[in-house]
Amino acid sequence: MGDVVVIGAGIAGIQAALDIASHGISVHLVEREPSIGGHMAQLDKTFPTNDCSMCILSPKMVDVSRHPLITIHTCAEVETIEGEIGNFTVTIIEHPRYVDVELCNGCGDCIEICPVEVYNRFDAGIGVRKAIYKPHAQVVPDIVVKDAEHCIECGLCYDACGPNAILRKDEGKKVTINAASIVITTGYSVFDARNKEQFGHLILPDVITSLELERMINASGPTLGKIKRMSNGEVPKSIVFIQCVGSRDVSIDRPYCSCVCCMQAMKNAILIKEKQPDIEITLCYMDIRAYGKGYEEYYERAKSLGIRFLRGMPADIRADRNGLILQVENSETSEVLILHPDLVVLSIGIGPADNAADIAAKCGVTLETTGFFKSVHDAVDTVATLRPGIYVAGTASAPRDIPDSVASGGSAAMRAYIDAVRTRSA
Ligand SMILES: Cc1cc2nc3c(=O)[nH]c(=O)nc-3n(C[C@H](O)[C@H](O)[C@H](O)COP(=O)(O)OP(=O)(O)OC[C@H]3O[C@@H](n4cnc5c(N)ncnc54)[C@H](O)[C@@H]3O)c2cc1C
Repeated sequence: MGDVVVIGAGIAGIQAALDIASHGISVHLVEREPSIGGHMAQLDKTFPTNDCSMCILSPKMVDVSRHPLITIHTCAEVETIEGEIGNFTVTIIEHPRYVDVELCNGCGDCIEICPVEVYNRFDAGIGVRKAIYKPHAQVVPDIVVKDAEHCIECGLCYDACGPNAILRKDEGKKVTINAASIVITTGYSVFDARNKEQFGHLILPDVITSLELERMINASGPTLGKIKRMSNGEVPKSIVFIQCVGSRDVSIDRPYCSCVCCMQAMKNAILIKEKQPDIEITLCYMDIRAYGKGYEEYYERAKSLGIRFLRGMPADIRADRNGLILQVENSETSEVLILHPDLVVLSIGIGPADNAADIAAKCGVTLETTGFFKSVHDAVDTVATLRPGIYVAGTASAPRDIPDSVASGGSAAMRAYIDAVRTRSA
């Protein structure tokens, strides 16, 4: 009675859960992936301080897992929500993990022995994982999950598992919770660059996305931090970033700015330049949006390192046997340039979560025409939805950076907390 359900355990949901629980209210944190953490766990560093992303996130993930008032439901989704503010009945489905969560000690012996390799979604498709796996090294909870779709039932993992934690059958579980209020923090999906065919993503091997670059640049990622061309494994001598791929583009019905792409491209350009100053970097942009605290200074730093900012957008990327070819008009000088980079990074936009419509329907709340969750007022009440007792935070309601996602997670938490306190004292 009087608990809070937080749906989605990225940084916004984690912050909301910690803030509510630290005020003495029980929280159920529901995450569809095997680990909490969301997109922030995929990032290498964060702008504008270049702090290590996991060094900030990981302690919060551990705090969540150790908090006596927070129950984490991973591989889980909300099935139904009934009732009203102060008295919601929330049904959560925990999908089969094929692992006994009490017995698994996360040792990884089963991962070692598993013979199956498939693309790792966590590495944005550029790395591989086993059929029994942890998406990355710092997962919370620190246990494995079996991918039943790719498992070949060879039986090796059962034999390798000391505590006999791997299950041959698992039907998942259904949990019903009485909640005073609900916070939606289901985050975003990145733009699928294949929808801008002219840039050749997944056709031209040396055209990658910004999320793929985040995994590549990460010392614990699939290339152990080495920036390389996917075609031949060599270090690129020149890189071009193309901004606004899937943002500010009415032709594909994505008219809005994704808010983080200018900064994250500068961040990765700076990180590369600092390690390998000989790599030539050009950033093709429409406008630079560096609006936050310390962001303009970060832009100046990028320029001072020799990163070239070229105001103009290539129409397409072509290739011949010598490599990639981009034609760009510099809109400041009207000069037409032909670039031959070794690697192109598409700065893909932030869009609504792929399942936003489904969650909105289950929660009985409304989406904007953009597909993000609608709040009561864009200026003065950005966390309340139109349904009393249900709040929204982080990138579920709009593209945001990490500081803004944390701040909105905190404000949604306080609104949900007040509903819980009122329910308990009623
Ligand atoms: C390439 C790139 C680089 C970036 N670099 C930076 C940076 O350096 N600094 C910065 O400030 N920002 C950066 N960002 C933005 C940053 O990723 C976001 O601000 C932040 O991760 C948003 O957190 P969130 O919790 O709102 O969403 P998410 O991280 O998307 O978390 C949402 C969570 O909800 C879960 N979920 C979704 N649907 C359901 C469901 N139905 N049931 C249960 N769970 C569900 C998801 O699995 C996920 O764990 C970058 C973004 C990109 C794309």
